[in-house]
Amino acid sequence: MVKIGILNLQGAVSEHYDMTKNAVKNLGLNIDVESVRYSEDVKTCDGIIISGGESTVIGKLIQKRGIDTVIKEKNIPVFGTCAGMVLLGKKTDLDQPLIGLMDITVKRNTYGRQKDSFEAPIKIFGQNYSGVFIRAPAIESYDKTKDNIEVLAEYDGEIIAIKQEHNIAISFHPELTDDTLIHEYFIKEVLNKN
Ligand code: GLN
Repeated sequence: MVKIGILNLQGAVSEHYDMTKNAVKNLGLNIDVESVRYSEDVKTCDGIIISGGESTVIGKLIQKRGIDTVIKEKNIPVFGTCAGMVLLGKKTDLDQPLIGLMDITVKRNTYGRQKDSFEAPIKIFGQNYSGVFIRAPAIESYDKTKDNIEVLAEYDGEIIAIKQEHNIAISFHPELTDDTLIHEYFIKEVLNKN
């Protein structure tokens, strides 16, 4: 059975778990959703979701546990939100361990500190969506020579959602809404790859 793993190292993990379960249900599919902590568990997944949280901490654990190596070796699609977006990048404004699957440079804390958190209407996949931004990053730049990169959403002049092959990085927190649109999109990407 196809399995989506929610990387459970630090951050908003249980919210993503619930959202993914709901997305699977809404799609009427028979897909397993599991919380994963070690590379042995990640190895058995067809897609991985990396939540928001503290990207430096999550990145160090990913590297220490060899999770980045497994993801790359098995070419597992990753959906990263907020800190997850940071980790998908090749570069950030700080020196930190990254998975680096996407040809993007990420600017951490583009939208300021926790006290500057906000919710704003955005548009993604041609639909209205509520963007919850918490110490959110944005894309500073991406490799425009790559034809497999697609900008999915912008807000206030910043790129806040981007896709490269089957990997998706978004600045905001869909797991804090009850709209499964983006989770459903990722699940379909995973199925397309298989
Ligand atoms: N700014 C945090 C970081 O770069 C991400 C914040 C979040 O995930 N809510 O790790």
